[in-house]
Amino acid sequence: MPVGEPSRSYVVCPVCGHGFRAAYASSYVTVGREADLCPKIPGRPSDGARLIRSAVTMCPMCSFAAGEAFDDLDLTFDERYGIEERLKEDGLLKVFRKGQPPWLGFHAAEVCGKERNLKSRELGDLCLRASWVCRKEKERPFESTFQLRAMRHFMRSLQEDDLIGRELSVTTYLVGELNRRLGNHREALNWYVNAGRTTEGDPRVAWLDRLIDRQSKLAREQAA
Ligand SMILES: [Zn+2]
Repeated sequence: MPVGEPSRSYVVCPVCGHGFRAAYASSYVTVGREADLCPKIPGRPSDGARLIRSAVTMCPMCSFAAGEAFDDLDLTFDERYGIEERLKEDGLLKVFRKGQPPWLGFHAAEVCGKERNLKSRELGDLCLRASWVCRKEKERPFESTFQLRAMRHFMRSLQEDDLIGRELSVTTYLVGELNRRLGNHREALNWYVNAGRTTEGDPRVAWLDRLIDRQSKLAREQAA
């Protein structure tokens, strides 16, 4: 199997019981990250998008989706019921289920994740990844949609999730960077300052301090 090709294995959907072959990403080669931490992957952008997409599995029958391996999920009766209801009611799924746009699995995983009480940090991560896929696939309006959702989850996460250390710094930084990408340059600058306060010169996150400096300069230019 070539490096970076997702492997396929047989999985059973924990919600509807449908069995299918799902693609799982093996580790893939990256050549650095963009400022919103999107991995740069050699080759065509659509190949990169495919690898990022394989981080979530979506059932082709009922659209249940999750970032975890389906085997590892142990859903209660109530959770299964709640998930089925949410999947049936979801507006975007109603419209896009047939067309299967590249971001759909992340969206479905976010819908299901709310019912599974995933932390805001995790919900934000699903939306952030969806925005990366949209950028690589040139789905501009959806890229912004998912950036906005990721930003809101991350802001809630900063209030609710008791983040510490690197996770706190990176999450705060991402709220800044997503604001900048959405055109809110002054907001972005405030969040970069907040993020810089959380790193406190910790050498393990020196890379983040450099990123904060660089992106702050950019936001100041853009705000002018
Ligand atoms: Zn299913």
